[in-house]
Amino acid sequence: MTRFNTQLVHGLPVGDNNTGAVNPPIYNSTTYAFEKVDAMPRYDYARSGNPTRDFLEQQIAQLEQGTRGFAFASGLAAIHAVLSIFKPGDRIVVGDNIYGGSYSQLNEFFTRWGILVEAVDTQDIAALEAAVKGDRANGIVPAQAVYFETLTNPLLKVNDVRAISTVAHRFGALSIVDNTFVTPYLQKPLALGADVVIHSATKYLAGHSDVNAGLVVVSGEDLASRVYFAQNRLGGVLAPAECDAVRRGIQTLALRMDRQQENANAIARYLLVHPLVKAVHYPGLPGAGDQRLAAKGLKGAGGVLSFEVVPGVDPADVLNNLHLFRLAVSLGAVESLAELPCRMTHFELPREERLKIGITDELVRLAVGIEDANDLIEDLGQAFDIAYARYIDRHADFDVFQQLTSGGVCLI
Ligand code: PLP
Repeated sequence: MTRFNTQLVHGLPVGDNNTGAVNPPIYNSTTYAFEKVDAMPRYDYARSGNPTRDFLEQQIAQLEQGTRGFAFASGLAAIHAVLSIFKPGDRIVVGDNIYGGSYSQLNEFFTRWGILVEAVDTQDIAALEAAVKGDRANGIVPAQAVYFETLTNPLLKVNDVRAISTVAHRFGALSIVDNTFVTPYLQKPLALGADVVIHSATKYLAGHSDVNAGLVVVSGEDLASRVYFAQNRLGGVLAPAECDAVRRGIQTLALRMDRQQENANAIARYLLVHPLVKAVHYPGLPGAGDQRLAAKGLKGAGGVLSFEVVPGVDPADVLNNLHLFRLAVSLGAVESLAELPCRMTHFELPREERLKIGITDELVRLAVGIEDANDLIEDLGQAFDIAYARYIDRHADFDVFQQLTSGGVCLI
């Protein structure tokens, strides 16, 4: 069997290409001819199946070591299809720090269809166990599924897929993991006991901020037929050209992620000692980080990190003055992006909820790309200088030295 890096490039041929083309063709046909009325062809209609989509679905199933893969028109369409296998009255225990769009789909959409959603800190295994178990005496049935993300967003806390899946299975629940932030290059959740893996392929897998896509991989034929039914009946499939764009992105995943991680590490170290930075959140930070990651089945920390500026400094003054980092949501692409979670990715979460899970107003998220790390660090440096100058201007009437030292910072 070939190794992961080779699988990224080649995928599994779908066996319908006799031209010698080294890339699988993009089939734009929505319908396929029957030889005879009763001779059902391999493909009949594009929503039900398409060879270009098949290639991508087989490619991701191979990389995630699952039974079958499915491609959707976005990450949220993928999540919708997976969660639609449940029925009214089913309980789903959900990580309390998941992507805002997924949180909203669960709490504002699926709850309207009778799904019961309970948020829990998935790093607190005892709390997770209590939530999954429920409380039959008080009419709370055991959960049908645990839904969480490999790294939480934007604080990058590491969820232990093996431990969480073990708890889920103890009570007969499925373990469903959004693996967007690390991809199968850094972790294969199915091999650690999860049942379903979901990706916003819009991010690292496609990798160039030019396609919206979602992927699902399941373990076992039963789940495969349930998710296929949802894919075909809900119909949110990925179009052939987009399937090919994701396939091509996947070919360079390892190269891109290596550089993104290298850059993220360099930036995290720079931020760690910067006087305007109060805290850095990056699980790949020097020290015991690597070992902790390995213990949780992760080969690396990915390319996203976040940091908090010291009190009094306006994070918008940093963000508004970046040049190389583009001020934008999303992550995982070749170019570096920066954003303010409280006003951008997580603005829908009520402030009290945000603060409870540690998303402060001073928190900045960086999605690091493949540029030269020195240029990225210089970009941050000049933006910090401007933010500091603005701070001084705003406090011109105050005793600046006293203000800064009371914030626990020395800038001299
Ligand atoms: N899951 C995670 C972790 C995400 O960050 C996102 C989007 O940012 C999604 C799912 C949704 O994916 P999409 O935007 O492709 O629908």
